[in-house]
Amino acid sequence: MPTAAVLVAAGSGERLGADRPKAFVVVGGRPMLEWSLSALRTAGIAPVVVVVPPHGGAVTRGAGRADPGDPVRGVVAAFGEAGGAGIRSVPGGETRSESVRNGLAALPSDVGRVVVHDAARPLVGPGLFARCLAELDQGADAAIAAARVTDTVKEAGADRRVVATLDRSRLWAIQTPQAFRREVLERALAQPDDVIRAATDDAMLVEALGGRVVVVQSSPANFKVTTPHDLEVAGLLLARR
Ligand code: C5P
Repeated sequence: MPTAAVLVAAGSGERLGADRPKAFVVVGGRPMLEWSLSALRTAGIAPVVVVVPPHGGAVTRGAGRADPGDPVRGVVAAFGEAGGAGIRSVPGGETRSESVRNGLAALPSDVGRVVVHDAARPLVGPGLFARCLAELDQGADAAIAAARVTDTVKEAGADRRVVATLDRSRLWAIQTPQAFRREVLERALAQPDDVIRAATDDAMLVEALGGRVVVVQSSPANFKVTTPHDLEVAGLLLARR
C-alpha cells in the first residue's frame, strides 16, 4: 500500500530560545529536520510533506544555509535538490495537530498509510519507521514508537502533595514516528477544533474514537529536542554518525 510521511517542523521552539524555528537550528552540522529527512529516505518512504512555519523566513532572524532570504524554504528545497525526491512543504497551523492536518491534506489521494514524525526528533533510526508500519499490517489502526519508563512516576496536586504512584511496568513514554491507516487519521483529525488543539499526540485522537493503538518499543535515545541541554546532547550523538 502506498505510504507517505508527514514531517512536522512548524513549531517555534520557544523553550530552545534559538534565533530560528527549532527544526531549522543546526545540530551535528545540519539543520535539524535534515536528519529526519535522511532517515525517511533511507527507510524508502516517499513522498514526504514537510510542514513548515506559516510565516517562513519572517519568523526567523538567522540566515539559512541555502537561502538567506528564507531559511525555511531554502532548507527543504536544498535537500530535495540534493537527491531527496518527492519532498514538498506546506504551512503549519497554530498547534501540532493542526499542522499534521495541513500535512495530511497535501498527500496524494492514493496514499493509504501515513507516518507522522516530529522534526524535533533528529536521532530517529530508519528501522523504526518500518517497525511501526509493520503493526498496521497486523491489524492496528495506529502504531506508535515508545520507550519504557524507567523512573518512578507519581501524580501530585497543585500543592505538590502526591496523590498516586503509577505502576511503572505498564508505562510508556510516547515518541514519534507514529504510523496510521490514512482514513483513521483523517477521521481522528476531523474531530472538533477544541479536541484537536488539546491533543499532545495524534494517537490520542485515534484512541478517542475507539481505534486500536499499539506501542512499538523504541529507545530513549530517540528523544525530542526541547531545551538547550537536549540540543547539546543531540549534537554530541549526531556528530558521531
Ligand atoms: O513543541 P513540540 O516540541 O512538542 O513540537 C513537536 C513537533 O511538532 C516539532 O517537530 C514541531 O516543529 C511540530 N509542531 C508543528 N506545529 C506546531 C507546533 C509544533 O509542526 N504548531
